[in-house]
Amino acid sequence: MIPDYHIHTGRCGHASGGMRQYADEAVNKGLGEIGFSDHIPMYWLPSDSRDPGLAMAEEQFPGYVAEVLGLKSEFSSLSIRLGVEVDYIPGRETAIKPFLLGCPFDYVIGSVHYIDGWGFDNPALLEEFGRQNIDEIYEKYFDLLCAAASSRLFDIIAHPDLIKKFGHRPAAPPLELYRRAAVAMAGAGVCVEVNTAGLRVPAEEIYPSLDFLRICRLEGVPASTGSDAHAPGLVGAGFSQAADLLREAGYREVAVFKGRTRNMIKI
Ligand code: ZN
Ligand code: FE
Ligand code: FE
Ligand code: ZN
Repeated sequence: MIPDYHIHTGRCGHASGGMRQYADEAVNKGLGEIGFSDHIPMYWLPSDSRDPGLAMAEEQFPGYVAEVLGLKSEFSSLSIRLGVEVDYIPGRETAIKPFLLGCPFDYVIGSVHYIDGWGFDNPALLEEFGRQNIDEIYEKYFDLLCAAASSRLFDIIAHPDLIKKFGHRPAAPPLELYRRAAVAMAGAGVCVEVNTAGLRVPAEEIYPSLDFLRICRLEGVPASTGSDAHAPGLVGAGFSQAADLLREAGYREVAVFKGRTRNMIKI
């Protein structure tokens, strides 16, 4: 079974369940390897403007790390890795870097959830899609994705076409934007994440789409896999479809990480 490297926990304020429940679920489903990648504390914001529903508080972070390290040694049949999901915010690279280097992460996932401060994947902020031209929204989103890849802060770029979440799409698939993103990821040696959360939202399609993933394959971008589980029952959700999509795009292996060093395993 492919690894699930994108798992949240109750600490982030919008997921349910404790870490042990996620790990137990992984064992029950026969996964061999998982990684926790909860949302990084949004420490770059003033503390009074941090939304406790978006990410854990800074004080919770040491407990998060300690609990993953504890579970690692407790589970023998399941490899558990320590990761984190980090919002890419242009201009904040130098603030994020020391934080990432100061922790014993196995891998770091970089995500684009904001365009000029607009949280486009937040269902409460959907109206903005009606105010801007969809092609321009896609351009801006993919520019940020390329910058995130090229920042070299991350090992994995999450849900690479998250902008399609609510079904807003350009008239034709933006192949040139996919190509630019794939070239940026290949150039930085960062993985593209095959994320099954897209199956559970209006887009009804894994992130990334098959045509995007094919381009990633052609450009030599390694792939990693994750469910983006925000509830224990979602660990490994949609993974047979993810494996099918990977094979259809030409992939025969996926990435695993230890101490921020990548290895490939057969699928
Ligand atoms: Zn989340
Ligand atoms: Fe995300
Ligand atoms: Fe996530
Ligand atoms: Zn995510």
